[in-house]
Amino acid sequence: MELLAPNIQHYHWGDYSFIPELQGRRKGDQPEAELWMGAHPTSPSKTLESNRGLDDIISNNRDASLGPWKEFFGDELPYILKVLAIREPLSIQVHPTAEQAEEGFTSQQSKPEETGFYTSSEGKEEVVCALTETDLKFGFRDQNEIHLIIDAIGSQELHSIWKDFLEETLDQQLSLDHIAPFKEAIANIFEIGPDQIQSITAATLSADMSSTIISEKELKYFADLAQAYPGDPGLLIFLFMNFVTLEVGDFLHISPGETHAYLCGNVVEVTSNSDNVIRCGLTPKDVNAEEYLSIGDIYPWKPRIQKPEDDRHTYTSPTPFTLSRLNIEGEWSTRVYGPEILISTQNAFTIENESGQKLQVGQGQPVWIPFSDHSYTVTGDCLLFRCATKDYGNDVHNRIEDWEPWKKMVDKGILVHPPDFMLTDVPKVFRSREDYEAWVQKNLEHLLPFLKLRD
Ligand SMILES: [Zn+2]
Repeated sequence: MELLAPNIQHYHWGDYSFIPELQGRRKGDQPEAELWMGAHPTSPSKTLESNRGLDDIISNNRDASLGPWKEFFGDELPYILKVLAIREPLSIQVHPTAEQAEEGFTSQQSKPEETGFYTSSEGKEEVVCALTETDLKFGFRDQNEIHLIIDAIGSQELHSIWKDFLEETLDQQLSLDHIAPFKEAIANIFEIGPDQIQSITAATLSADMSSTIISEKELKYFADLAQAYPGDPGLLIFLFMNFVTLEVGDFLHISPGETHAYLCGNVVEVTSNSDNVIRCGLTPKDVNAEEYLSIGDIYPWKPRIQKPEDDRHTYTSPTPFTLSRLNIEGEWSTRVYGPEILISTQNAFTIENESGQKLQVGQGQPVWIPFSDHSYTVTGDCLLFRCATKDYGNDVHNRIEDWEPWKKMVDKGILVHPPDFMLTDVPKVFRSREDYEAWVQKNLEHLLPFLKLRD
């Protein structure tokens, strides 16, 4: 194990003091948006003592670094752990699945004259856990909320954008049949010009929104964004997305295809080892509405927030990585199943591995733990975030995404979203083909409501 040096991204939306204070440094004159801990080629972490890149350490000894599941991870560290300090809203965005990234990246390489939006062929999963109260936008609001918002704004232009959806859902429960008109409405937002967006924005800001789900706090964000990005289609996307406030310890999984935007707060984030992002608004960077409409899961979807159930909690997500939030008082020991990175957001601690190597670790100081450490003990009173990989056991493994019928459902667009129970109950890896088929049989009835031909 080794301590990692600070690896900071100075994006304009970052806070000036949160990360420096976490790490016990003096704040500088640049914002510090993200503390990166990982081996991604754009910004690999370096070890504090030997100044060696984590990418280099891993590629020189994949067995010792990554352990027996290295191929499952694509022979690389399967995550980037980050602390995000968000002072100003980030763009509205989605991330691609592995299949979409592969396809997008390959096709743009054949057209080098066009602007490319994919930086690699890797998909991107994302999870966040709040360090302080954090506001964000996530997924789309449900039909009743949308009806009330459009009524309250009372703009004819806005009404015509949503016309088909409003008519079809007037007296009906939202169903998968309404996905097409919903998506149509969102597509319309990108078709109208900045003048119409400005007039709808003005109507929103002068309307009485008290009958809607939109709070004063959310309206304030909207007003600020309307000033920063006048005429931006993202303003109307914003209006129809859920407004979420995460309390300290709250956790959210953001699957590929889920529309989201962080607004303000501080979080620990883990993503796949990928920086693929497709933006659809509220940003000075390039947006790609067409690609957004093609890969986004555009229909109402509520966030499922997980709260820590106890002092030492591992959150569940259908990702190869896991995030635990461990309130340690005294001593805590664990086995190691794969590559890990630890960071304490409260207080320093001591860590000792199986072979007796011992490190003093300051608050906010990341520690790299290779698989070859096998086990370790943490001593101290601290709040530790542990990014690790799952214990897949030693048997045959099958990934659910590789299971043919499942793949076909996704390819054909039949499976419109990972069902709810996937977020909690489904082992992403099965120990044997039999286990796997037994699971599918057992869950078939839960699966069926999510299966539906799109056309
Ligand atoms: Zn994201």
